[in-house]
Parts: sequence; structure tokens; C-alpha cells
Amino acid sequence: MAQTSDVIIIGGGVHGASLAFHLAQRGVKPLVLEKKFVAAGATGRSSGLVRMHYDFRLEAELVWQSFQYFRNWDEMVGGDCGFVRTGFIRIVQPEYEEALRANVKMQQDIGIPTLLVTADDVKRLAPYMVTDDFAVAAYEPESGYADPPATAMSLMDAARRLGARLKSGVQVTEVLTDDSKVLGVRTADGGEWHAPIVVDAAGPWADRIAAMVGLDLQMVTWSHDVMFLRRPKSIGPSHPTIIDDAQEMYIRPERGGLTLVGLEVGNPLGEDPDSDADHAHPGYVDRAVDHICRRIPVMEEGSLHSAHTGYDGLSMDQRAILGPAGPEGFWLNCGHSGTGFKIAPATGLSMAEWMVDGAPQTVDIRPFAFDRIPAGQPLRAEHPYADIWR
Ligand SMILES: Cc1cc2nc3c(=O)[nH]c(=O)nc-3n(C[C@H](O)[C@H](O)[C@H](O)COP(=O)(O)OP(=O)(O)OC[C@H]3O[C@@H](n4cnc5c(N)ncnc54)[C@H](O)[C@@H]3O)c2cc1C
Repeated sequence: MAQTSDVIIIGGGVHGASLAFHLAQRGVKPLVLEKKFVAAGATGRSSGLVRMHYDFRLEAELVWQSFQYFRNWDEMVGGDCGFVRTGFIRIVQPEYEEALRANVKMQQDIGIPTLLVTADDVKRLAPYMVTDDFAVAAYEPESGYADPPATAMSLMDAARRLGARLKSGVQVTEVLTDDSKVLGVRTADGGEWHAPIVVDAAGPWADRIAAMVGLDLQMVTWSHDVMFLRRPKSIGPSHPTIIDDAQEMYIRPERGGLTLVGLEVGNPLGEDPDSDADHAHPGYVDRAVDHICRRIPVMEEGSLHSAHTGYDGLSMDQRAILGPAGPEGFWLNCGHSGTGFKIAPATGLSMAEWMVDGAPQTVDIRPFAFDRIPAGQPLRAEHPYADIWR
């Protein structure tokens, strides 16, 4: 016999968990159906950067609201998200210097602690860096990184304490609808679950779920390799988190004297998200070493610790797809495009407000609605940087 729930959330990644938590805080008792285990998808592979520099104001607002959670996790959620403050430096190519200045101003208007610093300031923060190819950078003293699986698990645990349910190892194979509205889902084990609301939070698999109700998300799977280097002792016990468009890479420190390196280029599109994620693609490590050594030459003395890959769903404008779409009761929380971890707390909150109260309050996320996709109207920043990932 079919079981019932207030809301079914498909996917136990950081977004499914965050939405479950915020719904449960509002007295709604969601059921999360996860085909493997919590954080088995993009979340479990995420680099976990928590920085606030975005060129699109709504994303900057989402990350600023989310940051309140990361830095007060125990108080606001309970448990530990593993947030480590490292400071964050954002470097762009010289032709984007004016955009950087405008974006820092926009972020300061929101209240984000960020400032413009000179190349000399960067050299003082990180003397081992080559700083002769840029004049200014953005610096966020409060930013850093968190532990994505711990974050998702902590949100899910908090949701369950408030009455949410989690079923792991349950794969949704069908979204049930009548002519106009959602009725529930059918699962691979032959189960049937009924609910008036079904949310697609299936990360890189979200297009498959959406297709079950006839929606084409125009999403593509993005594969992203990450490497951990054992850094030379001369760099010290830690270093800032850095996104460096000029060298097309980002780095952050990791416990145990490691440095994580990801590249903005050479991320294959269109692979199956169920492919091997335990190994980086051939050639990745050599390329990543090349990029980081151009910025931090002493890294040549480092050694490889490990490398892996991960998959996320890239939308047509590399921005989230949020809100109701298709049959009544079907909601999207997907398309997080390689940057969705850090905005999960406030995205879940704004989604829950939209679902329960009729409109999002914390951040008005309605511009992220699905309609822009078939209409071919990508969201655009006022002072955009070059497209990365593609
Ligand atoms: C390598 C890598 C590095 C990244 N680095 C950063 C970063 O530094 N900072 C940042 O902000 N973002 C980063 N991201 C992006 C961020 O991690 C993702 O946007 C975010 O984790 C997406 O979370 P999600 O909950 O939407 O998806 P997921 O974590 O993929 O969760 C979706 C879940 O749905 C489940 N599922 C799928 N199909 C079904 C089904 N039919 N039935 C039931 N369950 C199903 C999956 O098993 C999965 O657990 C990175 C991503 C990757 C891959």
C-alpha cells in the first residue's frame, strides 16, 4: 500500500537536505528519497569553497545569507559543518578589473565583508605567490571552506529531529501525475509514495527526474577533477583560499598539510554522472601542477596525495533552476552548475518560504524559475566575468 507524505524530496545532497531542514522547521514533514546515501552525488565530491564573490547580485545575496549559517552552524542548525576560515582572494584577468571593482562594491552594498586589495597586499598575505600579472584583487577575510558531506548530514540530522524522514537506497523511477498535478512517485523497489508536492533535487540526475514529467531542463553533466597536493613546508600551516581566473584555477588548504587544486578549464561535458568518480581524468594532475606552479612556483616541491572527480548538472546559464514547473506540485531545486554548495542553506530557506508561505522572503529567488530556460533568456550579471566551465 502506498505511504503518504507532505512533500517528497528526490535527492539527499546538500540541497535536498537543506530544503528538508527548512520545511521541517516550518512544521512540514518531508520525506527524502535518496538512491544511494546522503551526499553520494556532487555534494560528496565538492571542494566546499565558501566564498562570497559572485558577479550576479542574487547569488551574492544567497551566499551572504548562507554564510550566516556556516559561521553560526551549531546555533542555527546544530552539529558541525566543518567551516574553516582561511581568508579568500579573488584574482581576475586584467580586462575584468573594472568588473571586479563593480562587483566588490555590489557585494559591499549587500553587507558582505570584502575589499579591494593591491597586488602588494596579496604578496604580504601570501609571499610565495607570483603577483606581477594583476594590479588589484578582491579579499574576503571571513571566507574559507566547509566539509560538504558533514554539512549535508548535519542538515539531514536536524531535519529528522524535526520530523522529516529519510529513505536511503531508494531510487525514484517514476513521478506519478494525473492530467495536471503531481500525485507522488514510484521507486525501483516497487514502492509507491504519495504526496501533493514532489521536489527534484537530484543534482546531475535532475534532468532525468524532470523528464519524467515532460520537462526538458537543457542541463548537461559537468565533470570536474580535483587534486590534493602535499604542499612544501615553506608555505606554512595554511594559506588563503584563492580563485584565480588568470591561471584558470582555484585552491584551498586542507587539513594535514594538503592543498586542494581545481581547474576552471578542461572540465568534460556530457559524461554519465554514474561514471567512475574515484579517479581524475588522464592528464589532469600534470595540467593542475602546471597551473598552480605558475602562481606558486614553490609548489614544485610538493607531492601528489590523491585526485578524484565529481559530477554536477550545468544549466544553460550556469545558474540554479528553482521553483514550481510543469504539473501542479512539481518543484525544481537543481542546476547548481558547479557552485551550489555554498548557497544551499539560504536556497533551502527561500524555497521553503516559497512553498509554505507563497513567496520567498529571505532572498527573492523567483528569477531562477524554469521559464527562462525554454524562453532562451539566460540570467545575466551586470558586470560579468568570462564564462568558466564551458
Ligand atoms: C568536484 C566538485 C567540486 C565542487 N566544488 C564546489 C565548491 O567549492 N563550492 C561550491 O559552492 N560548490 C561546489 N561544487 C558544486 C556543489 O557541490 C553542487 O552544486 C552541490 O553539491 C549540488 O548539490 P545537490 O544536492 O543539488 O546535488 P547532489 O549532491 O548531486 O545530490 C543529488 C542526490 O540525488 C540522488 N539521486 C539522483 N537520482 C535519484 C533518483 N532517481 N532517486 C533518488 N535519489 C536520486 C543522488 O544519489 C544524489 O545524492 C562542486 C561540485 C563538484 C562536483
